[in-house]
Amino acid sequence: MNFYLGIDFGTSGARSIVIDEQANIQAEVRYPFTMSNVSDVTIWQTALFSCLTELPREFRREMKAIAINGTSSTVLLCDSAGIPVDTPMLYNDARGAVVMEQLRSIAPPHHTVLSATSSLAKLLWLSQLPSFASAKYFLHQADWLAFLLHGQLGISDYHNALKLGYDLLELKYPEWLEKLQLKIHLPKVVNPGTPIAELRRDIAVEYDFPSNCLVCAGTTDSIAAFIASGAQMPGEAVTSLGSTLVLKLLSRTRVEDARYGIYSHRFPPLFNGGIQSVMWLVGGASNTGGAVLRHFFTDAELENLSREIDGSIASQLDYYPLLKAGDRFPINDPNLPPRLEPRPDRPEEFLHGLLESIARIEARGYFLLQELGAERLTRVYTAGGGAVNPTWTHIRQRCLQVPVLRSVHKEAAYGTALLAMRGTESNI
Ligand code: ADP
Repeated sequence: MNFYLGIDFGTSGARSIVIDEQANIQAEVRYPFTMSNVSDVTIWQTALFSCLTELPREFRREMKAIAINGTSSTVLLCDSAGIPVDTPMLYNDARGAVVMEQLRSIAPPHHTVLSATSSLAKLLWLSQLPSFASAKYFLHQADWLAFLLHGQLGISDYHNALKLGYDLLELKYPEWLEKLQLKIHLPKVVNPGTPIAELRRDIAVEYDFPSNCLVCAGTTDSIAAFIASGAQMPGEAVTSLGSTLVLKLLSRTRVEDARYGIYSHRFPPLFNGGIQSVMWLVGGASNTGGAVLRHFFTDAELENLSREIDGSIASQLDYYPLLKAGDRFPINDPNLPPRLEPRPDRPEEFLHGLLESIARIEARGYFLLQELGAERLTRVYTAGGGAVNPTWTHIRQRCLQVPVLRSVHKEAAYGTALLAMRGTESNI
């Protein structure tokens, strides 16, 4: 039997999932982070190797391939031996705000890199530090962790490299980026899932992995979660009902619209469900979502009150649930006020209005993506805390007019294990 290992480095910890050749989960190991150690590379390293150690030996011995996903735009500089020269910059670190003017002067208007948290903004910010002089490589979290396993420095995948400015259509760094002549190796970019090299010999021996176990190029946490959902045909989408509302729609056409914060990831051909053309994962994110629900209700109240709502009847309450003014998608208005009035006395009626209104915003979001050229929506998988609510699913199905299902798997580590499996299978 062959086994495949996916390791997810998320915001709250590392999680590993082993799958077999039928893509069934065989083992799962977690390593939680605290707020203070999430940006500590020695903790990342400890988490990685503790995930290996804790996997039952029977799976390790027959491991065919490993892949790792990190959080998007978590980056670091390291020297020629791969040793970090400074602390990593996490996905949400916005210190790059000070280089925005420089960035605007080099990148095309509305480009994805034009954000204070983009990998390129972080690289420009890091390039002003004294430690930059001893740096040789700029890597994403997933690239560096994979390096620890295979020993090859300077390799990334086109999901992690998107916010560094990598051109996903031409599959090369654009000229405007090359022209910068930064004194650093930008990673060589390969398809997510591509086998890079065998696991380092010393690690294979110490942890009892086969000597030909492959380490594959990784991806980002949100793409890994999309892969895990089961969506793979054009028109299929995943809505994440977490603190915010995030939509991702698989499409044969690419949509980019900086006004609404809409951009497209290239979807790896390994998951194209037999479709020959290039597929894009078109995404948009709204500030509405579960954080507003949590502001008014506990999770237990959400569950109990939802049972008292008849999801087949449309609520007449017309809200735009936000915690503070402003949204970008599907309404681009930084001053958009929260609309939470009138508030009925009965809490289940208020909750009905909230769930219905978020569902309408979701439908409007998918409508906008399609209006801007994305594939016609056929089916929506659901991830995140709100996915467990059958009443909400009922309401959403009525608003979206397509089948609404739970994601088959919700763990990013599962999607990354699939990536390792498909990546190695396709090369057999
Ligand atoms: P994130 O990772 O974005 O913080 P999660 O995916 O963990 O979010 O989801 C948490 C959200 O799910 C909370 O904001 C909460 O309001 C919402 N939630 C939890 N239980 C329910 C429920 N039964 N119905 C609707 N929403 C729920």
